[in-house]
Amino acid sequence: MSKKFIKCGKFFDGLNEVLRTNVNIVVEDDIIREVGEDVVCPEGAEVIDLSGLTVTPGLIDAHIHLDTLHHWLFDSSYLISDEMKTLNIVHNAEMALQGGFTTLRYIGSGLRTYGAIDARNAINDGVFPASRLIVSPHGMGISGGHSDSSSSIAGNFYLSEELEKQLNFMGNGVDFYKTYVRKEVKYGADFIKIMASGGFASPNDDPCDCQLDDDELRAIIDTAHRLNKTVTAHVYSAEIAKNLIRMGIDGIEHGSLIDEETCQMMLDNDVYLCCTFQPYQEAVHMDEEKLATKSPHFQRKLHKYVDQLRATRKLVVDKILEGKMTIGYGTDMVSVYECWECWREFHTWREEGIPALRTLRAATSVNAKILGLADQIGSIEPGKKADISAWHRDIENDIEAISECDFVMKEGVVYKNCCK
Ligand SMILES: [Zn+2]
Repeated sequence: MSKKFIKCGKFFDGLNEVLRTNVNIVVEDDIIREVGEDVVCPEGAEVIDLSGLTVTPGLIDAHIHLDTLHHWLFDSSYLISDEMKTLNIVHNAEMALQGGFTTLRYIGSGLRTYGAIDARNAINDGVFPASRLIVSPHGMGISGGHSDSSSSIAGNFYLSEELEKQLNFMGNGVDFYKTYVRKEVKYGADFIKIMASGGFASPNDDPCDCQLDDDELRAIIDTAHRLNKTVTAHVYSAEIAKNLIRMGIDGIEHGSLIDEETCQMMLDNDVYLCCTFQPYQEAVHMDEEKLATKSPHFQRKLHKYVDQLRATRKLVVDKILEGKMTIGYGTDMVSVYECWECWREFHTWREEGIPALRTLRAATSVNAKILGLADQIGSIEPGKKADISAWHRDIENDIEAISECDFVMKEGVVYKNCCK
C-alpha cells in the first residue's frame, strides 16, 4: 500500500466556505484516509509539502466540449475526422488536468461515433495522464438546430445535405429518439444530453426556438430514466425550461434567459442549473472588442437578447448568493478561448461579485452532486477519492488565482508538483 502525507498551507474542503490552516491529509493508495489539524505522518509515508500553497479538492468543470484542438477551428469542425477529434479529447483533458481540474463533464459532441467513451475508458485505465471524463457522447437534436454542424456550411446546399446525412444523432419522431437514447446507453453514456432549444453559436436558429416536440421530449426523458440515466438539456428560455421541468428533466444547461418562476420550479423539483456565464460575458457587459471575435450570427443574437441576458444574469447571481438552488460551474468555451482553460469561469463569477469560496464550492461539491458522484469526489474528506489540487496565488482576493495551478493529484497519483 502506498501512503502519502500532505502538509497544507491554507485548506478548503469543498463543503465549508472557510480557509483553514495547519491541516494535514493522509492518502492511502487512491483514497483519502485522514484530514485534520491533529493528523500525524504515518510511518513510511511519502511527505508532500504544500505548506506554501492553498489546497482544494480537484476541481470539476460540469460543461465542457473537448473535440476541437484550438478555438479558431470550431466553426470548421466538420473538416476534422472522428479519429482526430478523439485524439483532441484526450489532449484537451490532459491540459485540463494540468490546470487542476481532475473531472470534466463532457456534454455532447459532433462525433458520429463513440470516441469520447473510448477516451474516457482509456483515461480511467491509466493509459493517459488526463482528467476523468463523465460523458454524454452526443447532443441529440434536429436538422438545422443547435447540434447540426452542417448548418455552418448551409450556404452550400449540396455539401450541407451530404454532411447532415452523416450526423446520425439528429432525427425526427418518438421512435428515433427512443432508439437513440438506448444506443447512447448501449455504448456507455453516463448521462443524456439534448438540444431542446436553438443557440447563439448556430447560424439560422434562435435561442428561443423550441427544437423538439413535446412527445419527443417526453420519450427521451422517460426512456433515459427507465435506464437509470439522467437527462440534461441545452435551453435558454423560461418557457422551454418550465416545460422540461414539468416533464421531469434533471438539469438545465445555460438557462441564460430564464425567470424567477423557472428558478422556483427548479428549486421545488430539485432540478440543477449549469449556468455557463463566460461565453455571454461580452454581451452582458457589452465589450465590443471581444464581441467582435465571435461569429456574425453570435453577435447578432447577443445584441437581440442583451437586455434579457443581463436581467437573467443578475437573477442567477442572486440565486447563487442565496445558496438554495443547485447551480454548477461550467465553462462551455468553444470559439473564443481554449476549451481546457477551465479557470476562466472562476474569473467571471468573481467579476460578478460571487465570493471565491462560493465559486469553488460550485466547482467541487456542487458539481459532484450534479454528476451523481457526491459520495466519491468534490470534497476532501475521509473515504473520498484522493483528487487534490493546490495553488500559490491568493485564492480569496486574486480573481485569476486559479489560472496557475501548482499541484495536481488524481486518485492518489501526483500528475503535477511545482514544489519539488
Ligand atoms: Zn455547450
